[in-house]
Order: sequence, then C-alpha cells, then structure tokens
Amino acid sequence: MKLICIGRNYADHAKELKNEVPTEPVIFMKPDTALLPKRNPFFLPDFSDEVHHELELVVRINKIGKSIEEKFAHRYYDQVTVGIDFTARDIQAKCKEKGLPWEKAKAFDHSAPLGEWVDLGGRDIQNLNLELKKNGETVQQGNTNYMLFSVDRLIAEVSKYFTLKIGDLLFTGTPAGVSKVERNDRLEAYLDGERLLALNVK
Ligand code: MG
Repeated sequence: MKLICIGRNYADHAKELKNEVPTEPVIFMKPDTALLPKRNPFFLPDFSDEVHHELELVVRINKIGKSIEEKFAHRYYDQVTVGIDFTARDIQAKCKEKGLPWEKAKAFDHSAPLGEWVDLGGRDIQNLNLELKKNGETVQQGNTNYMLFSVDRLIAEVSKYFTLKIGDLLFTGTPAGVSKVERNDRLEAYLDGERLLALNVK
C-alpha cells in the first residue's frame, strides 16, 4: 500500500509557509514504513531540529482504480480518519531551496500516524471539522470545506498518474497552524469533535 499526500491544499496554510497557492494539486508520497504502529509514541528523529505537525483528513481507498473521473470518485472510499503528516521543516527548507525532492523531510519512518477509522456514513466529506490539540490547547482547526481541491478532485488527479489500490491512503493536506513539536508534547486529533488519535512525542 502507499500513502499519497497532498501539499498546500488549504490557502491559509500555503500562506503561512509563504508558498504560492497552487493551480493544481501538489502530490508526494510516503512509503508504508511511515506508518506509526498503534499506541506507539512518536520519537523525534535525530536528523532534524524542527519537526512540525500537520493535521490532515485521511481517506482510505476501498477499490482499485485508474484515471477515475471526479464524478465517480466518491465510490472509491467510505472510511476516513485524521492523520499527522510529520514534516522535518528544516530539511524540507533545504530541499526546496535546492529544488530537490522532499522525501527526507516528509517520508521518514513513523512520519504518518493515523487515527481510528470511522465510516463516513451520510456525512459530506467536504464539511468535516478537523482539530488538533497540543498539550490540551487547540493549535490547528479547519474544515474540509476550505480545501482548494476537493477529495473527489484529488482522487481524479492522483489516479491519472498512479493506480489506486485497496488500502491506499490519501492525506489531503493541512490547514493553518502548523508548529514545532517538542519532546513530551501530547497531540490529540479530532474529526467532527470525536477524538480519533492521541500520541506522545518522545
Ligand atoms: Mg501535509
């Protein structure tokens, strides 16, 4: 399985990092070794001094598909959760400066913790509230309504290039409020008020 991630999908986050608002989705990937086994703490990697949390809606693909039309994309998922796209911002800045790929900054081991899966049910995937608390204080808050590219559009775009398989995960980008995590921080992520993910930083 693969983790397909979208960058700069909320205008307020693109602005906070002084990036241009994209005219097409920014796509990158993480390997399955980026998943964090359940109930494990996240250990800060020693190669970075600035790991940021990025709270994101994550969609689980439930059907194989290639070149999926946007209008049919909703048939390819029925479960969602929240995840964190941990990013070594200092390494990413160096990669960006040199025009190099981001993998070292984005795709390292355990950089993609996931919450518990929930059925989307009758809910509108473009009207879900996201919230991240750090040590009990809200640091990121957003609604999927503010995505620049909807989940269905992302599935259409991504599947032009990559065949989607059952169990593939789509990280859909982060709203504003990213910040550095420190040892002993506790992160708790909520979807529509329901806590789906909690982890400790070590
Ligand atoms: Mg991200």
